[in-house]
Amino acid sequence: MDFGYSPRAKEYIERVKAFMRDHVIPAEEAYHAQMSGSPDWRQWRQPALMEDLKAKAKAAGLWNLFLPDPHHGAGLKVVEYAALAELMGYNTMAAEVFNCNAPDTGNMEVLHMYGSPAQQDRWLKPLLAGEIRSAFCMTEPDVASSDATNMEATAVPDGDEVVVNGRKWFSSGIGHPNCKILIFMGLTDPTAERHKRHSMILVPLDTPGVKIERMLPAFGVYDEPFGHGEVTFDQVRVPKENIIAGLGRGFEIAQGRLGPGRIHHCMRAIGGAERALALMCERGDKRVAFGKTLNQLGGNVDVIANARMAIEQARLLTLKAAWMMDTVGVKAAMSEISQIKVVAPNMAQVVLDAAIQMHGAQGVTLDTPLSTLAAYVRTVRLADGPDEVHRKVVAKFELARQRAARGEA
Ligand SMILES: Cc1cc2nc3c(=O)[nH]c(=O)nc-3n(C[C@H](O)[C@H](O)[C@H](O)COP(=O)(O)OP(=O)(O)OC[C@H]3O[C@@H](n4cnc5c(N)ncnc54)[C@H](O)[C@@H]3O)c2cc1C
Repeated sequence: MDFGYSPRAKEYIERVKAFMRDHVIPAEEAYHAQMSGSPDWRQWRQPALMEDLKAKAKAAGLWNLFLPDPHHGAGLKVVEYAALAELMGYNTMAAEVFNCNAPDTGNMEVLHMYGSPAQQDRWLKPLLAGEIRSAFCMTEPDVASSDATNMEATAVPDGDEVVVNGRKWFSSGIGHPNCKILIFMGLTDPTAERHKRHSMILVPLDTPGVKIERMLPAFGVYDEPFGHGEVTFDQVRVPKENIIAGLGRGFEIAQGRLGPGRIHHCMRAIGGAERALALMCERGDKRVAFGKTLNQLGGNVDVIANARMAIEQARLLTLKAAWMMDTVGVKAAMSEISQIKVVAPNMAQVVLDAAIQMHGAQGVTLDTPLSTLAAYVRTVRLADGPDEVHRKVVAKFELARQRAARGEA
């Protein structure tokens, strides 16, 4: 593995770093102040400041950096973009500034890889332009959704149409005022082989029968203006041209969608940990108690050293997984992708918790990004598969490797 960044990646790193320093971080407070603050998602608006920042990032050529296709994005390798995702993890607003936020990135990747030319024209283009937002509706309240083959909501062909029925939840982004399109995963053929039963369907949000029942708070926070919606689909009819890639390919697409997304989530979690460490060091140097700075008290230097070591380990492992995706492909990197999906958010959770502790009561307020980042990294341990499912993948590969090494495969 090559541990250095390419000159092109280095150049992007410097530009994103400068943009974060000059534009995004100074806007944090004003951005939050422009939110409605209402638990009623119907009141939510896109803060004007976000559109300003997006326009600036676009003009600076810092746009769609996640897409490896140079015609639509920056053409960066996964390992190169990983460094940029880390910088975007310094707060929870930055990724949208660069049009690199979940779930839109994953949805754009799906449309880019599997969408028909007509689907790309209608939905991918405005998503790439940042004009609309999207949601991914897979998880259901009534079934264990860590097993994607469990989904019970249906997507059944009927003549020239597909009829969609069921209840989904944690559809992130569905509360965004610009959300226009949903990617729905539904059961098409319960008699087919387990991994070929589901299909992915494009459902415009304004189709009759689609109803947002409520937004779900995560640790009491609604993640405005994106939100996590519970949504029902009642006899929703869309043309069969809205099927992505073909009936029965839902599971395959879901797997393809999650590989790069996991690198992005993990690197953002690492960025959140870096920000926490920086804030913790500064606070510890400046705040005085019992006649000493906090950094001179108790075991606080150990806390700082442990945080640095943990971040470095998680970053190296995540970059290894990204590098493997670039060189040997997602399939061969499956164990490493699952490893980082456990390691990075767990590490970030510990570092953020330590930084909150060093900030005393202020740490749990919204005066610093710490509490929001802590909530975010905690949810990453569930979203895109809980820790336990990823451990299962790691163990499966390890046991197979060990059995092969013993000649027992
Ligand atoms: C903030 C947030 C945003 C999300 N955004 C989206 C989104 O945009 N679209 C979407 O479709 N979904 C989204 N999700 C849902 C997420 O993908 C699911 O929560 C996740 O897949 C787990 O499914 P579940 O909640 O049904 O948990 P369950 O499947 O019920 O699992 C519950 C728990 O059981 C345990 N468990 C499960 N499997 C195993 C195993 N093999 N071994 C041991 N223990 C196990 C784990 O502890 C797990 O946490 C989001 C979730 C959160 C929290």
